[in-house]
Amino acid sequence: MILKHREKSKELLILESLHARMELTKNEKSRFRNLARGFEGEQKFDRFIEDLSEERYVLNDLLLEVNQSYFQLDTVIISQEAVYLLDSKYYEGDFYFDSSGKFVAKKSNFHYKNPVDQLNRSVTLFGQFLRQHQLSFITEPLVIFIHPEFTLYQAPMDLPIIFPTQLPRFIRMLDESPSTLASSHKKLAQLLLTSHCEDYPGTVLPTYEYEQLRKGVCCLVCQSFRVVVQGKVFGCQDCGAREKIQEGVVRSVEEFRLLFPERAVTRGSVEEWCGGMVSRDTIKRVLAKQYQLMKKSQNSYYV
Ligand SMILES: [Zn+2]
Repeated sequence: MILKHREKSKELLILESLHARMELTKNEKSRFRNLARGFEGEQKFDRFIEDLSEERYVLNDLLLEVNQSYFQLDTVIISQEAVYLLDSKYYEGDFYFDSSGKFVAKKSNFHYKNPVDQLNRSVTLFGQFLRQHQLSFITEPLVIFIHPEFTLYQAPMDLPIIFPTQLPRFIRMLDESPSTLASSHKKLAQLLLTSHCEDYPGTVLPTYEYEQLRKGVCCLVCQSFRVVVQGKVFGCQDCGAREKIQEGVVRSVEEFRLLFPERAVTRGSVEEWCGGMVSRDTIKRVLAKQYQLMKKSQNSYYV
């Protein structure tokens, strides 16, 4: 039973939009790619556990705080015997731990944060979180490497890691273990849901101005701007994706609100944001249907 579904983070959504509409710096691009890849890996892992039998609560993407330290949990599975704290990684290729414990990509020699250290930090903080709320549960923390072409050389056997080749067996084991949840499990799930923080404090976003961003409706799949209106749909000339005009306009309005929460959503602002691709009448119809019209003196806007 999924109690909290996975969604793209606000940072990923903003970077995705900015990546399509302006030139990001090298660092911003790499941050965007890492987040997008991480999300892709997590979604792939979600598919493995979506059909688990027995009673279990699944909570995705929790950001919790304890004693002013924040920690993130990709997937929490509350089951009878233990609370699984799972961190999925979508690294591809050959890796090793160097003598100082750094996690290194063999080909590029790029040093990544040690995923086991990261997990251990979360486990420690999760323990503090439980104690703070006078709760006690057995936890089972694991790093899950999900990419089928991932290899870790000379990996010690005692690390809390599930490799791609072990993943089906791990899922079977999980699926076959009986689980009946009690009120204590429900209490924990509710506590985790109410303790979740929406935004990671200290997230540094690229600076951007309305004027510098490219206007228009971009493709919902590949973010290309080679999108044309074909009757009642937007059609992408790059990847062939199609989207109903109404849905594309709502998606663009949501993008506008995310990037510019201080700007009013009006027929005119949406028309400009959509780059003149959609007629005034259509925009008016979509706004009237999907949003609430507010009037303040002579001005009206939608929320
Ligand atoms: Zn496309």
